[in-house]
Amino acid sequence: MSLTKKIIIALIAGLIVGLSLNAFLPTETFNQIDYYLLSPVGDIFLRAISMLVVPLVFFSLVLGAASMSDVKRLGRIGGFTMGFYLLTTPIALTIGIAVAYLLQPGTEGLMNQDMDGYEPNEAPPIMETLVNIIPNNPVESLATGEMLQIIVFALLIGFGIAMLGEKTKGLLSLVEQANEVMIWLVKLVMKLAPFGAFALIASAIGELGWGALQSMFMYMLAIILALGIQMMLVYGGLVSVWGRMNPIAFFKGFVPAMAVAFSTSSSSATLPVTMRSVEENLGVPKSISSFTLPLGATINMDGTAIMQAVATIFLAQVYAVDLGVTELLTIILTATLASLGTASVPGAGIIMLAMVLQSVGIPLDGIALILAVDRILDMSRTAVNITGDAAASVIVARMEKKRDYKNAEEL
Ligand code: ASP
Repeated sequence: MSLTKKIIIALIAGLIVGLSLNAFLPTETFNQIDYYLLSPVGDIFLRAISMLVVPLVFFSLVLGAASMSDVKRLGRIGGFTMGFYLLTTPIALTIGIAVAYLLQPGTEGLMNQDMDGYEPNEAPPIMETLVNIIPNNPVESLATGEMLQIIVFALLIGFGIAMLGEKTKGLLSLVEQANEVMIWLVKLVMKLAPFGAFALIASAIGELGWGALQSMFMYMLAIILALGIQMMLVYGGLVSVWGRMNPIAFFKGFVPAMAVAFSTSSSSATLPVTMRSVEENLGVPKSISSFTLPLGATINMDGTAIMQAVATIFLAQVYAVDLGVTELLTIILTATLASLGTASVPGAGIIMLAMVLQSVGIPLDGIALILAVDRILDMSRTAVNITGDAAASVIVARMEKKRDYKNAEEL
C-alpha cells in the first residue's frame, strides 16, 4: 500500500478513535491515554520531522541558489512568487468575508457563553518582522529556526558559491552530499507518518469531542466552505490555467503533504514533505522549489487569512458591531499583513487575529469563544496554506520552462 493511502487511513482511524474515546471514556481516563500513548507518539513524529526542517531548507536553498548564478532569473522567480503570494491572500480574504456574510454564523446569543480564562496576546508589530529579514547572527537564526533569515543567508551563500566557481568546488559537493542525506532522512521519517498522524488526530479530537464541534457548527462550516473554495477554484483554477497542469493530478500528487499538514497543524514542520511531494510528484525542479516553498511556508498563509476574515465577521455579528466598506477594506489589509507575519506553527493564526480585530474595534475577548474549536480549523487551514505554496511552485516552474527552457537544467 502506498504511503499516501496509509496516512489517509490513519487520519480517518484517528478521527473515529478520538471521537469514541471522547464519547465513551471519562475525561481522566482519556487524559491518561493521551499522556502515555497518543501525545508521545504524535510528538515523536512531530519532533523527528521538525528536526529536518532547518538543515533541509538550508542545504537545498544553498544548492538551488548555487545552480542559479543568473541573478536576473532569481529576481524574476522571486518577484513572481512574491506577487503570487501577495495576490492570492486578498482573494482568500474576500472569499472568507463573502461566505461569512452568506452563512451569518454569529448570533448574539453566543456572547453569553463562558469566556473566562483567556488573555489575548499582543500581536507582534509588522515593521519589525520586515526589518528582521536580515539576520544579525546567522548561527542564531539557524538555531532558532528563523525561516526568512535562513532564506536570506542561504541565498547569499549559494550565490557566493556560484560566483566563486572553481574555488568553491569542494564546498558545493559538500552541500550536494548533505542535501542527499537530508532527502534520505525525510524518506525515513515519513515511514513514521501514519502512526504520527493517527496519534495527533486522535489526541486532538479526543480532547475536543463532538459537543464542542456542534455548538460552533456554523462558524466552522463557513471557514471550511471558504477553504474549499480557495483550494478548488482559486488554486485548482490557477494551476490549470497558468500552470497547465491537470488540477486532479496536482491535488493527487500533493495529498501526502496535505495529510501531514492536517495532522501537524504546522506549515513549517510539514516543509520536508511539501518539498518532497512538489519535487517528486509535481515535477518542480529543486532550483525553484527550494526557494518558493520555504518562503511560502513562512509568509503565504491564505488558509489563515480565511480563518481571520470569517472570525472577524463572526465576532462582529456576535457583538453586533456594524462593519462598513472601509472596515471591510481594513480587514483585508490588516489580515494580509497579519498572514505575512504569522509564524508557521500550530495556533499562530489565532494570535495574529488580535491585530485584525483591533483594527476594526471588535473586543478581543471574543477570541475565547472560538479558541476551543480552533485546533481543528488550524489543521484544515494549514493544509490550504501549503497548497498555495505548491500552486505557486507549479506555476513558476511552468513559466520558467517556457522562457528559459534550455537553461533550466531539470525542466
Ligand atoms: N498553523 C498554521 C500554519 O502553520 C498557522 C496558523 O495558525 O494559522 O500554517
